Amino acid sequence: MTAAETLSSKEGAKVEHFDVLIVGAGISGIGGAYHLTKQRPGTSFVVLEGLDSFGGTWWMHRYPGIRSDSDLHTFGYRFKPWTGVPIATADEILSYMGEVIEENDLAQYIRYNHRITSAKWSSEKNRWTIEATKKDTGETVHFTAGFLWMCQGYYRHSEGYTPEWPGMEDYQGQIIHPQTWPEDLDYSGKKVVVIGSGATTATLVPAIANDCEHVTVLQRSPTYFIPGRNRNDLAETLRELEVPEEWIHEIVRRQILQQGNVFTKRSFEEPEKVKSELLAGVRAHLPGDFDVETHFTPSYRPWRQRIAFVPDGDLFKGIAAGKASVVTDEIDRFTPAGIRTKSGEELEADIIVTATGFNLCVLGDIAFEIDGQPLDFAQTVGYRGMMFTGVPNMLWVFGYFRASWTLRADLLADFVCRLLAHMEAKGKKRVEVRLRPEDADMELKSWIDPENFNPGYLMRSMHLLPKRGDKPEWQHTQDYWREKDEIPAIDLDGPEFAYAP
Ligand SMILES: Cc1cc2nc3c(=O)[nH]c(=O)nc-3n(C[C@H](O)[C@H](O)[C@H](O)COP(=O)(O)OP(=O)(O)OC[C@H]3O[C@@H](n4cnc5c(N)ncnc54)[C@H](O)[C@@H]3O)c2cc1C
Repeated sequence: MTAAETLSSKEGAKVEHFDVLIVGAGISGIGGAYHLTKQRPGTSFVVLEGLDSFGGTWWMHRYPGIRSDSDLHTFGYRFKPWTGVPIATADEILSYMGEVIEENDLAQYIRYNHRITSAKWSSEKNRWTIEATKKDTGETVHFTAGFLWMCQGYYRHSEGYTPEWPGMEDYQGQIIHPQTWPEDLDYSGKKVVVIGSGATTATLVPAIANDCEHVTVLQRSPTYFIPGRNRNDLAETLRELEVPEEWIHEIVRRQILQQGNVFTKRSFEEPEKVKSELLAGVRAHLPGDFDVETHFTPSYRPWRQRIAFVPDGDLFKGIAAGKASVVTDEIDRFTPAGIRTKSGEELEADIIVTATGFNLCVLGDIAFEIDGQPLDFAQTVGYRGMMFTGVPNMLWVFGYFRASWTLRADLLADFVCRLLAHMEAKGKKRVEVRLRPEDADMELKSWIDPENFNPGYLMRSMHLLPKRGDKPEWQHTQDYWREKDEIPAIDLDGPEFAYAP
C-alpha cells in the first residue's frame, strides 16, 4: 500500500493507514520525514507528536540559557548547512528545524497534540495499530502502519528526575526542575542553589548568575568541561573566501568529526593525559587560588559521561566574579531555609533548582503488544541498538553519547529507507531481526557497558532496556566512525534478518 488509505475500525470510526508512522517530531523525527520524502517518494507516512509543536528536546526545555552542548555543524543535519556559531540556543535550533520543515514542505505530514498510548502488532495483518490521545480534544484516535519509526528520544518529557531528600517537605522556598521551568519564575535578587554538576548546570548558572543575589552549585561530584571560544575559525575563513555554505558545512563537519575521533581515542588510550589537559583548560579560566582539585576534578576517566563544552568559559566567569560558587558535598537534608550538607554547611536558598537529570523513558511510554502479548523490551536483544529481536517492522533512533545525536539519526534514516526499498523489492511485508545459530550461546549483558558510559539516568533504568550481545551486530557500539561505514554496508539478506510476505 503506497498511498494513505482510510480504513474503518469495528466501531465505525475512521482509521487511517500509512506505510510508515514516525513517533515524535524532534530532530530525529523531522529528519526521518525529510529522508522519507527524498529517498522514498510515494511512501505514505505520518509523524505523530504529543506536544503542540516540533523540536522535542528544544521545544520542551525552557530554562534560562538553554543551549546545545555539542556543535551544530554535526548536531545539524548533513543535508542542511548550519551557518551560525557552533554552540546554539534552543531558539536557534528550533528556527533551523522550522526552516527544514518549511523548505521541504514537511508540515503536511505532522500531526501535533497526538500522544501515542499503545502500539499493537498483528502478524495476521502484518501491521501496527496505534492508539493516540489528542491532547486538545481528549479524543482517542487510531492509525495503522506498516512500519514504526521510533523517534521519541530517550527520556520522559513530562518530568525530570528529582531524588527524594529528607526534609524536602519542610523547605519554605521553591523547588524547580529545569525540565519544567516555570515561565514566570522570578529569580532576580534571590539566593539560588543549583543541585547537580552536568551540562544543564553549566548552561543555567551563567544565564541567571548576574540577576541572582548569588548562585551556589551544589554537586556530589565534579564533571569534566571543555571551555573554548564559541566560534569555528575554519568556517569563518571559508566564509571570507566566499566558499558556498554547503561546502563549508561538509568541510567543517569533517574537521569536527576528525578532531572528535582523535579526542575519543585519546580518552581511552591515555586518559590521564587527557584528564590533565581538560583540567588545565578549566584552571585557565579560574582565579589562581581556586580549588580545582576539589570542585572540577572528576573521579572517573574522561568521556565516561558526556563532556559539556562551555562557550567562552561563561560558567567560570560567574565563579571568578563571585556571583556563583561551588560546593562539593553531599546533601544531608533540606531545612526550612535551604540545604544542610553532610559536612554541616548550611546553604540558604530562596529557590532550589534540581538539575539532577532525566528519567529514562523506554520507547515513549507506549504500551507495546505483539500478537496480543505485552512486549517486555528487557527480554529482547538489540540489533546495533536500533532493531529488537521479536519486534517486527520497528526501528528506534538512539543517537551517540560522544558525538552528535543527529549523525546517527541521518545514518539510521538511510538505513530505514534502504530496508523499506529492499522489502518492496522482495515483496515482503514483515522484517524482524533474530539471533543467528552462532549467537545461540552468546552472553547477554546490559544495553550499555557501564565501564564505557555510565550517566545516572542509564544506570537507574538499565533493567528496562534491551540486552546487548558480545558481537558488534548486537551492540550499540557508540562508535560513529565504525558505523558510518558499517551501517550503509549491512547485508539486508544476512541471516540476522527474517522476512515474511
Ligand atoms: C538540555 C539538553 C541538551 C542536549 N544537548 C545535546 C547536544 O548538544 N548534542 C547532542 O547530540 N545531544 C544533545 N542532547 C540529547 C538530545 O535529547 C538529542 O540529541 C536530541 O535532541 C534528541 O532528539 P530526538 O528527536 O531523538 O528526541 P527528542 O528531542 O526527545 O524528541 C522526541 C519527541 O517525541 C515525542 N514523543 C515521545 N513520546 C511520544 C509519544 N508516546 N507519542 C507522541 N509523541 C511522543 C516527544 O514529545 C518529543 O517531541 C541534549 C538533551 C537535552 C535534554
